[in-house]
Amino acid sequence: MFFTYCPTRETTVMLSASSIVELRNTPGGIEVVLRCHCGEHLTAVNLHEPRPVAA
Ligand SMILES: [Zn+2]
Repeated sequence: MFFTYCPTRETTVMLSASSIVELRNTPGGIEVVLRCHCGEHLTAVNLHEPRPVAA
């Protein structure tokens, strides 16, 4: 599960792994691009489960 802030809904939303659009390896960790329930694309840093998701 990922918790990230959605500026459209102005709240923190909880998104599951099925909402992942893209994973990026960065020097600061794995950036996860998620699609919110509202359709907005949000970026979160996965701090708790650094496992990559199999395609
Ligand atoms: Zn949203």
